[in-house]
Amino acid sequence: MNEFAGTPGDNVHVLTHPLVSHKLAILRNKETPPYRFRQTLHELSWLLAFPALQHLALTKVDIETPLEPMVAETMRLPEPCLVSILRAGNGLIDGFSQICPEASVGHLGLYRDHKTAKPISYYSSLPNQMEKRQVILGDPMLATGGSAVMAIETLRELGVSDIVFACLVAAPEGVAVVHDKFPEIPIVTAALDRQLNELSYILPGLGDAGDRIYGTVQS
Ligand code: URA
Repeated sequence: MNEFAGTPGDNVHVLTHPLVSHKLAILRNKETPPYRFRQTLHELSWLLAFPALQHLALTKVDIETPLEPMVAETMRLPEPCLVSILRAGNGLIDGFSQICPEASVGHLGLYRDHKTAKPISYYSSLPNQMEKRQVILGDPMLATGGSAVMAIETLRELGVSDIVFACLVAAPEGVAVVHDKFPEIPIVTAALDRQLNELSYILPGLGDAGDRIYGTVQS
């Protein structure tokens, strides 16, 4: 897909860079407090924005530099849409939106039924002309793949064809579930971890991303 990413499998792009490893270690460490977790998540999402937006559509424009006219390239309209899978997706999408402030931001509210581990939809807010926009769909954790599939189905129903799924940590099980239904969707991640545990948490992972971002860890 690009010069920043390793390719452990078809259409899975792992961002490999010493800074990414360093920041992931901070996020994975259970001693990291929420304020530092949030800050580091933002920093990591700035880096992840590069491969996630690698295929950003451009259009040619005539401009004048202080020295002469030239044809430059600028973002095609309508701008891309960054879609957060609530609530943990906000941490990732906030960072993307700092790097790409022209993009619209959408939200999809899905929660995981802790008994069945199945996603349930409770909220949707998206801009118009979704069918014309490139979409970066973000959730820090790709675990069972249930929320990702449901969010992608919602976007497909709105006619969105160009979707990249971005996460911090992916489990092989989640990658398989997403690519079983949507093999054409690139998955961009900072890490591909070992497996899920019996509660569908990623191992070694970083715990519950939402709780770690917002300091709502239950003791
Ligand atoms: N969601 C999380 O926040 N963490 C996991 O490990 C799995 C799903």
